[in-house]
Amino acid sequence: MTLSYTEFQSIAAKLSPNGQAFIDGAFCDADDGDKFETINPATGQVLTSVAHCKSADVDRAVVAARRVFNDGTWSRTEPEYRKEILLKVASLVREHANELAVLESLDTGKTITDCLHEIGTEVPNFFQWYAELTDKTFGKIAPTGPSALALIIKEPAGIAGAVLPWNFPLVMAAWKIAPALAAGCSAVIKPAEQTPLTTIRLAELMQEAGVPAGVINILPGYGHTAGQAIGLHNDIDTVSFTGSTEVGRMFLRYAGDSNLKGVGLEMGGKSPFIVLDDAVINDNLIEHAAMSAFWNGGQNCSANMRQLIAAPLIEEFTARVSERVKKFRLGDPLDTATDIGSMITKNHKEMVMNYIQSGQDEGAQLIMGGHSNLPGCFIEPTIFQNVTPDMKIAREEIFGPVLGIMPIQSVDDALAIACDTDYGLHATIFSRDIDRVIHMARSLPCGTVSVNGFSEGDIKTPFGGYKQSGSLARDNGTEALAQYTQTKTIWINN
Ligand code: NAD
Repeated sequence: MTLSYTEFQSIAAKLSPNGQAFIDGAFCDADDGDKFETINPATGQVLTSVAHCKSADVDRAVVAARRVFNDGTWSRTEPEYRKEILLKVASLVREHANELAVLESLDTGKTITDCLHEIGTEVPNFFQWYAELTDKTFGKIAPTGPSALALIIKEPAGIAGAVLPWNFPLVMAAWKIAPALAAGCSAVIKPAEQTPLTTIRLAELMQEAGVPAGVINILPGYGHTAGQAIGLHNDIDTVSFTGSTEVGRMFLRYAGDSNLKGVGLEMGGKSPFIVLDDAVINDNLIEHAAMSAFWNGGQNCSANMRQLIAAPLIEEFTARVSERVKKFRLGDPLDTATDIGSMITKNHKEMVMNYIQSGQDEGAQLIMGGHSNLPGCFIEPTIFQNVTPDMKIAREEIFGPVLGIMPIQSVDDALAIACDTDYGLHATIFSRDIDRVIHMARSLPCGTVSVNGFSEGDIKTPFGGYKQSGSLARDNGTEALAQYTQTKTIWINN
């Protein structure tokens, strides 16, 4: 049963977050003792100071990760052993879900309801799902004929680095750690500097579950310090990055400037929500439109922030979606009645406010939101209509609660506008015409197309982007294992 606001406040009051790095099975300060503060963006309160890891710390973590990888105490064990320990991680996360959710809510400004769903359900499911895969993943035998036997086998890639964003801290950590460890890799993980606390707490739980020293290392730090050191390290075999397209590009350069490590990229988006003229504007469609844009305050890579609505339906759509969005309650993220929490930082809030100003300057019509009376980093859900595809608010990823509504005249018009972007992460289509749905779903260059509802899929389905939203790598599903495995052919002559 979900706890009450007062009970969550009481958990928050008792928390004493650990801000240390976790290297080679032990919690420690950064080599040079440097620290930075992590702040609750909803209140401005300092939560704790955190070890600021740099290249010396990354070196130390990689030495430990390599030692344990080479001695085989994780990488070459029976799959059932890794499965049992990862299942234990899943059950410990479930057991500590309330505490972890409160910690995540304080560190991010996300609502406790979302944190609880992500941490009580999704994160343990990810560990459980990849745990279950460890002893159910088979290699292949090539059809060679009688003169040879050719085995195609998968081996752990080695040391996996991961550099994470702040918008879904523990979900993103689990997306990388669960498949990497299931595959047999050792991991060196850098949480975002804004939100390190739950990933550090996860390290404590992983240690309790029996993950051997050196297999998982958590290095809080900044991008230009710990992040860059992971990208450039010559003994990290593969790195999985989730964050902005701008920083994703750097990881390709880092690989080129170092050991040509594998690079998996999951990046930004400017995803369309398309309503064709045969769709029915009902409560279900409106709920999906509102949630696709404003869930997590719009701080979501697959947020559907360009809503392309058939011209005959646009008036009704705009009125109903605005009416629904007005009901979203902004406020204390720990209050279970709150729907939208805080932006992640003051700087981020300012950046979003600049986009709102630019929408007004370029002639889009602001129909709701655009400001906030609450102190702190809050912004009311904001809707613009009469947005045109050339406007900055229609082209750039805002990563805040700013929705733009645009009319479309036909399927071809919708496709032309939807595809006119450097991104390709997600799209939603509402239509009752199966031929048009299939045509559009096949034509849209993006990693996920969701039909008659907004969804990002689940742990069983791969997630990633086309164009500048991603590399060929995918998180989730069996596909994620490709980021953490090498393929070997063993050709045996008869
Ligand atoms: P960001 O790119 O600023 O930071 C992401 C991570 O990269 C952080 O850990 C940061 O410290 C690190 N970093 C920053 N500069 C670096 C550098 N020079 N070298 C190495 N590492 C560096 O992104 P963000 O602001 O944390 O997250 C928001 C972005 O993430 C948005 O663009 C969003 O769309 C994207 N995102 C994508 C997905 C997905 O699965 N496609 C999921 C969540 C977020």
